[in-house]
Amino acid sequence: MANTVVNKTAHPFERSRLESLLLGRFFYAPAFEIYSGVKGLYDFGPPGSSLQSNIIAEWRKHFIIQEHMLELDTTVITPAPVFEASGHVARFADWMVKDAKTGEVLRADHLVKNVLQARLDSDRLARDPAYQPPKEDNKKKKKASAGKAKLAAVKLPDELVAEYENILAKLDNYTGTELGELCRMHKITNPDTDNEVSEPTMFNLMFQTSIGPTGDVPGYLRPETAQGHFLNFSRLLAFNNNTLPFASAQIGRSFRNEIAPRSGLLRVREFTMAEIEHFVDPDDKSHPNFDEVRDVELDLLDRHTQESGSTKVTRTTVGAAVDQGIIANQTLGYFVARIYLFLTKIGINPKRLRFRQHMANEMAHYATDCWDAEIENSFGWTECVGCADRAAYDLTVHSNKTGHPLIVKEQLATPIVTEREVADLKMSLLVKKFGKETSAVKDIVREMDDAQLLRLKGELAQGTATVVSNDGKEYKLTPDLLTIERKTLKLGKREYTPNVIEPSFGIGRILYCLLEHSFWSREQDIERGVLSLPALVAPTKVLIVPLSSKKELFPLVAEITAKLRKAGVFSRVDDSNKSIGRRYARNDELGTPFGITVDFASVQNGTVTLRERDTTMQLIGPVDDVIATVTELVNDTIEWAEAAKRLAVYDGVQALD
Ligand code: AMP
Repeated sequence: MANTVVNKTAHPFERSRLESLLLGRFFYAPAFEIYSGVKGLYDFGPPGSSLQSNIIAEWRKHFIIQEHMLELDTTVITPAPVFEASGHVARFADWMVKDAKTGEVLRADHLVKNVLQARLDSDRLARDPAYQPPKEDNKKKKKASAGKAKLAAVKLPDELVAEYENILAKLDNYTGTELGELCRMHKITNPDTDNEVSEPTMFNLMFQTSIGPTGDVPGYLRPETAQGHFLNFSRLLAFNNNTLPFASAQIGRSFRNEIAPRSGLLRVREFTMAEIEHFVDPDDKSHPNFDEVRDVELDLLDRHTQESGSTKVTRTTVGAAVDQGIIANQTLGYFVARIYLFLTKIGINPKRLRFRQHMANEMAHYATDCWDAEIENSFGWTECVGCADRAAYDLTVHSNKTGHPLIVKEQLATPIVTEREVADLKMSLLVKKFGKETSAVKDIVREMDDAQLLRLKGELAQGTATVVSNDGKEYKLTPDLLTIERKTLKLGKREYTPNVIEPSFGIGRILYCLLEHSFWSREQDIERGVLSLPALVAPTKVLIVPLSSKKELFPLVAEITAKLRKAGVFSRVDDSNKSIGRRYARNDELGTPFGITVDFASVQNGTVTLRERDTTMQLIGPVDDVIATVTELVNDTIEWAEAAKRLAVYDGVQALD
């Protein structure tokens, strides 16, 4: 009987092995490769495209369908005024420095990070000769330690180690000037040349374009899908019967002209995003379904911990985090938990997932709170989902720029009753007295609050009153020109600009981290890589493997294919003339979770075997039973242990595999 205990950690993770698998099986590859490629642009091949589509399909189910979100598909090409209003033209930028001699461009924060990290590694090696920096990072670290061929052991004073660690924990919090100061203070130079670097300058990450034949309508490729949601707010609100809260959602391409694209899919110039804009009443950020996620446990790295120079996470429930004010409000907490549930459902290892709060400088000035879902991978901890409370910023700036009100008018169930002073101006008499300046007088009175009106009323009762305009001009008023009375007012409507909570997913980053978390090599043979992708997202769910290419097997293979199709299970037939072991190995690399083997005995007895990818264990049973079982396995309604109860264990597994 096949071994059901699988050792997935027999071989330490090696990124180069995963990369050659991904390239070899064409999950994705550098775009324009035969033209020497362009950094930061990738094409997805068949398994990569299917994996991406499956992640997106699950995202649609988890968010759009389950939460009744309003789906959008807005344009990529965007006229410049939109990004002028949103602040992207002025601020959507990274800090870059230039090598003082060669002119090579480097991203300032990455330079500081790589150099300080390399120094810390050298220090650790000096303190512990057995210390080995992560294998796949060797090349990068070697570069960062100023061209030294091998990581040198260089002990640093304890205070400097503490200072470097402190800087690294706060790296995202530094301004351009501060990054420049760090480079000078810690003698950070370009690791490739050892040359000094320039002062940091801002580089805007948006791709510019022009719209139409004249070339005089400037535009940009969107760097996020969000603006399309905000600009359609009024229509979305009407679609939602003028009620709040509601969320819009969009999956689409975004473009960022990254200074230094690197780390494969993690930092690219064109990528797929999935974004949600949840519009909510600023006075009520509770979430109706919060109790459903209250007990979800998360690893949180809050702002204060980072500001004290530590990266230690705290495990807590989302309910406790919101109750204690660590996460600003229920809606934000709700989405943080839903993001966690989505990522772990598609196969992200929960032990390598944390939520990091933005520090004060890092957060956009208008945002009230922001948490990034960071996933650990061989490049470090990478932000894969951002989740921010953007307050009323976006709707306000677009409304101000266009004059189009982006507000909610709420009919109040019980009108608000207030008492206040109301001025009644006798316009014809005012015009007679003040002529062209009447409107100035009118504005002064209109802008008065209750206390000012009360004072004016008192003065008028004495005979005359003097009012002053903003530019210091005085006007004398008498009781015949206006009366001021206390009135009871009923307010039946409330008008406000909604706040926005925005979860923003980078699909490529999630996909890459998932591939890393899923990859391992068989204990007995390091060359046999496996991608343990959950059936939910695996490109192919079932591989049908005829043992021979003889005609006799064709009808049964066709029958199984048709039955699986009918059951909604995506399968593929591998009838190549490779050995069965080679065929299974190929499909282990493609992450195919199940295999059905058809042989001559199948034709005679009507039985087929069912193989599970990770354990390589095989079961046997009648065709219809196997199809019913594998359908449930794929739909995640049963586990393999249950399948093993329903079908007999197949002993021939060792011989076949
Ligand atoms: P941001 O708007 O910068 O918070 O980005 C939102 C999400 O988009 C991030 O969490 C990433 O997953 C993804 N993302 C941002 N920039 C890139 C990039 N250059 N390459 C790939 N994904 C990115």
